[in-house]
Amino acid sequence: MHVHTIIEAGWVMPMAPKGALLTRHSVLIDEGKIVAVVPTEETQGIEAKEIVRLPDHIVLPGFVNAHTHAPMHLLRGMGADLPLMDWLQTKIWPAEGKLMSPEFCYEGSLIAGAEMVESGITCASDHYFFSEDVARGLTEAGIKCSVSGIVIGFPSAMAKNTDEYIQCAEALFERFANDPNVRVTVGPHAPYTVDDDALIKVRDLAHKHNARIHMHVDETQTEIEGSLKQYGVRPLQRLQNLGLLDERFISVHTVCADDAELELLARARASVVHCPCSNLKLASGFSPVAKMMALGINVSMGTDGVASNDKVDLLGETRLAAMLGKAVCQDTTQMKVADMLYAATMGGAKALGWDDRIGSLEKGKDADLIAVDLGNIDALPVFDPASQLLYSAGREDISHVWVNGKIVVKKQQQEGLRPLSRENAQKITKTWQNRI
Ligand SMILES: [Zn+2]
Repeated sequence: MHVHTIIEAGWVMPMAPKGALLTRHSVLIDEGKIVAVVPTEETQGIEAKEIVRLPDHIVLPGFVNAHTHAPMHLLRGMGADLPLMDWLQTKIWPAEGKLMSPEFCYEGSLIAGAEMVESGITCASDHYFFSEDVARGLTEAGIKCSVSGIVIGFPSAMAKNTDEYIQCAEALFERFANDPNVRVTVGPHAPYTVDDDALIKVRDLAHKHNARIHMHVDETQTEIEGSLKQYGVRPLQRLQNLGLLDERFISVHTVCADDAELELLARARASVVHCPCSNLKLASGFSPVAKMMALGINVSMGTDGVASNDKVDLLGETRLAAMLGKAVCQDTTQMKVADMLYAATMGGAKALGWDDRIGSLEKGKDADLIAVDLGNIDALPVFDPASQLLYSAGREDISHVWVNGKIVVKKQQQEGLRPLSRENAQKITKTWQNRI
C-alpha cells in the first residue's frame, strides 16, 4: 500500500463515533482524502511520501466556524463597552457605510481566514455582503467556506431592495455551483430586518437550490418583544408559519428562545449556532444550550464577527460554552467534553449540510484536520487528552493544520528564554503521573 501522508499521533479523536479516543493511531491521507485511521503499529508495511510524527499531539477534524462576518475583521476593536444599539448606530453602521465594497470584503476575509486557519478552523460559514469576494478571501487563506446570499430590509452598496438581494444570491449559487471548496446559503439577516414578503422569497430560493437558510434569530429580548408587538407571535413561530423551519434552517444565537420555540426547532430538525462570546460581550443573555442538546437539536459553534468577540478562536469559544452552559443549567454533568468537541466539528458540518465531506475523520472524507500539542507546559500532565484539549490547551497549541490533505499551517516550537524547558516539564509531570 502506498499513500501520500501518514500522520502518527499520540491520540486521534475522529468524532465518529462521538467521543471516541484512539491512542497511538495514524491517519492515512492520499489525494486529499482520508484513506484510513489505524493503530500506528499497523502502518509499518505502508509506504508514504511523508510521515509526520506527533507523539505528544491529539489529531482531530478541523473546527467548523458555523457563524461569522469575516470582513468585519477590519473593524476589530471599535466601540467597546457601548450598549448594543449605540454600538451599531454610532460605530459599526457608519464605518460599514463608509467602507463597504468588494475590496473591503475581500481583504477583511483574507485577514479573517488567516486568523481562523491558525486557530484550527478549516471551514467557516460567513454572513455578509459581497459574498463572492468573501469566498475569495477565505479560500485564499486556505479554508473552505459557506457564504451567504444576504437579504436585509434596507439598501446597501450591494443592492437596493429585496429583489436585488435575491438576484445577488441567485448569482452566488451559479458562481459556486461547481466549486468543491465553497457552498452557498441564503442569509436573511434577522426577523426584525426582513419582512414577510422577503422571507417567502428567501424560503422559495432555498427550496429551489436545496440550500441552508442562515439567520440570526432570538438574539435579544427586545427582538422577541418587537415580534410579539408587530406580528403577534415570537420570531421562531413566525418563521414556522412562513414555512422556513426545516432541517435546512440554521438559527444563529437563539439566546432568548422559550420552551415552545425550542420544540419547534427540534421538530423541524433545524440547527443552532451558539456564539457565547458575542452574546456575553453584547449582554444579550445566556443561551439554553443544555436544553437544546437534551431535545436532540444539532448544536454547532460560531465566533460571530470580531467586532463583537473580538477574536475567531473556536477552541476558546467552545471552552467558554462548556463552562457557561454548566453554570446556566447548574449541572456539571451537562455540556460534556465529547458533546462540545462534536459541536465544534461535526455539529458545524451537519448544520451546513456538509457532513458528507467534512466534520469527522472517516474513510473517504476530505483530509481537513488539525494537530494540537498536549506536550506543552499548559496541558501537562495528560490524564484525559480530550478534556485537556478543551479545558487546558489553547489555540496557540494548534501546531499543524491540513485542508484537503495539504498542510496550510505548521508552527515551530518556540525557543528563547524560558524558566522551565518543555522536556523538564514533561519529565516532572510524567514522574508524578506514573505514581497514581
Ligand atoms: Zn452575527
